[in-house]
Amino acid sequence: MTALVLDGVTKRYGATTAVDAVDLTIPDGTLVCLLGPSGCGKTTLMRMIAGLEAPSAGEVRMGSETITGIPVHKRGFGMVFQSLALFPHLSVGDNIAYPLRLRGESRGTIEARVRELLDLVQLPGVEGRAITQLSGGQRQRVAIARALAVAPRLFLLDEPLSALDAKLREAMQVELRLLQERLGITTIVVTHDQREAMTMADQVVVMRGGRVLQMDRPIEVYRRPATPFVADFLGQTNLIQARREDGGARLASGAFLPDLALPSETALLSIRPEDVILLPEGEGPIAAEVEFVRDMGSAVEIYLRAGEARIVAHREAGAAVAPTGGRVSLGIRPGAPSVFPAEAA
Ligand code: ATP
Repeated sequence: MTALVLDGVTKRYGATTAVDAVDLTIPDGTLVCLLGPSGCGKTTLMRMIAGLEAPSAGEVRMGSETITGIPVHKRGFGMVFQSLALFPHLSVGDNIAYPLRLRGESRGTIEARVRELLDLVQLPGVEGRAITQLSGGQRQRVAIARALAVAPRLFLLDEPLSALDAKLREAMQVELRLLQERLGITTIVVTHDQREAMTMADQVVVMRGGRVLQMDRPIEVYRRPATPFVADFLGQTNLIQARREDGGARLASGAFLPDLALPSETALLSIRPEDVILLPEGEGPIAAEVEFVRDMGSAVEIYLRAGEARIVAHREAGAAVAPTGGRVSLGIRPGAPSVFPAEAA
């Protein structure tokens, strides 16, 4: 078992610290998503893992072996980047065969392996086609097949699906995940798409400003976000200021929630839309007005205003909801809010 270990990994570009003393252990055989907004340092961190970029400080290890100084082509990693970097003048087969030829494999071995890889990515029989004759999704698969050709120790994907349309992207997320499970290769995926991370990852690493805010199973990050930023980034949430009062908490909207103990005088609550309960007017602690209803077919999203606060609530498909302008009451499912100190961000 060889985990990938990052120990104080840092990258500075002049005055910019792109990656700031990141410590991470990525267990053998798992799929980890690096998730965060644009500019948070995901790609820079990935490039240091790949060996495309040297850290300004810190160490990258595979198990006990330090690989920080090993050049990219000697690491034995498979990589797929957003650009795919396929050779447009070579056929599909020659693209996939490329890393095998570099290794000096025999012609027979290469042909068999190319066939096997095309089966693996569900593109059998297209060896002879030109890259330009393939759709975006098919090119994606060829890039994945090429990256897997030499059975990599580590599989690195940087925004691999971002060029695909939404439907194909979702299908490929599931496929990639199943493929990774089948092969058992330790895999790191960079994405800014939280749904992609939730779909694929054993562990999500949420980054901001070059730092890791949280690493955990996706559902744990969703249910127990480490900061309000994480709560807001992974899924939808309602962030509401609250103040401690006898026997409960007073929300910024003026509503009083009994039995909600705050750790400090003031706090920030994160309340997921599915934890907001809609009640007839006057029957719950929070008075609100319906501003907008989005019926997605599979679920209903209700956008509300409670005093100064805007609140979003989710209901199951087909739920009856008051019309725009309708007055309702809101409750919060007991135990649901994540509570942060008011100064947390
Ligand atoms: P995106 O999702 O937009 O690709 P990211 O999370 O991958 O963003 P990085 O590309 O790693 O972020 O960039 C992190 C920070 O480092 C940014 O502020 C970026 O401007 C800076 N940066 C990245 N590469 C360089 C470079 N070669 N020279 C100078 N600054 C850089």
